[in-house]
Amino acid sequence: MRLDQLLFSQGFGTRRVCAGLIEQGLVSVGGTVCTEPGAEFDTAAEGLAFTVQGVDWAFHERAYLMLNKPAGYECSHRPGAWPGVYTLLPAALRQRPPHTKSSAKIVGVQAVGRLDQDTTGLLLLSDDGAFIHRMNSPRKHLPKVYEVTTRHPLDGAQTERLLRGVVLDDSPKPVAAAGAEAVGTHHLRLTLTEGKYHQVKRMVAAVGNRVEALHRSRIGRLALPADLPEGQWRWLSADDLLALA
Ligand code: URA
Repeated sequence: MRLDQLLFSQGFGTRRVCAGLIEQGLVSVGGTVCTEPGAEFDTAAEGLAFTVQGVDWAFHERAYLMLNKPAGYECSHRPGAWPGVYTLLPAALRQRPPHTKSSAKIVGVQAVGRLDQDTTGLLLLSDDGAFIHRMNSPRKHLPKVYEVTTRHPLDGAQTERLLRGVVLDDSPKPVAAAGAEAVGTHHLRLTLTEGKYHQVKRMVAAVGNRVEALHRSRIGRLALPADLPEGQWRWLSADDLLALA
C-alpha cells in the first residue's frame, strides 16, 4: 500500500494532508524517515510500525479495541453534560475513514453498546460495522459480567429473584440474570445476556435494592485486564477476539 494511502486509512487526515506530512519528513516507517508519499509498504502483516509527528502507531486494517471507561464520560458522539468517551482516544481512531460498503456510514470507531455515564469498566470499540452489529445482536447472548455495589445489604431472596426473573417497566416479560452472586454484603456479581436500557440498575431496583456503583468486568470470556488503567485503551489481540466469538 502507498504510504499516503496507508496513513489515510489509519485516520491521520485526508490523502493530501498525509502526503504533506510525509513530504515534510514527519513520518517514519520501521524507524526510518520516508519522504516519498508513493513509497509502497506491505500491510499484509498486521502491526507494521510507523511514527507520525512523534505518534507511534501500528497498522490495523480494522480497529478493535478495549477501553477501561472511567466514570464521568458518556458513550456518545454528541454528549450532553459530560465529555464523550471518544475524547479519551487518539484523534486517528476518531477519524478513521469508512472502508467497506457495509460500514460506509461509520467514520472513526464506535462503542459496542453503551455504558452509562457513571458506569466504569470494559467498553469495546470498533470501526467494523459487522462486528458491532454481531456483538450487539440479542441472539448472540454474550454474557456480560457486572460488579455492582449496592446501597443496602444483599440477601438470598434478592439474588434468587434476579435469577428467577423480574418484570421491568417497559415489558410484561420477565428478565432474568444468567448469574447473580453476592460476593460481599454490598457486592453483587451479576451476569446478563441482554443489554436493555439501564438494565442492571432497573433489575436491582426491582428487587428492592439500589445500585451505588457499577463496573463491567467481563464480556464473554474477555476480562478487563488488571494492568489497563482507567481511561486507557489498547488494541484487542487475536486471542481477545476469540474470547468474544
Ligand atoms: N446496566 C446499567 O444499568 N447501566 C450500564 O451502564 C450497563 C448496564
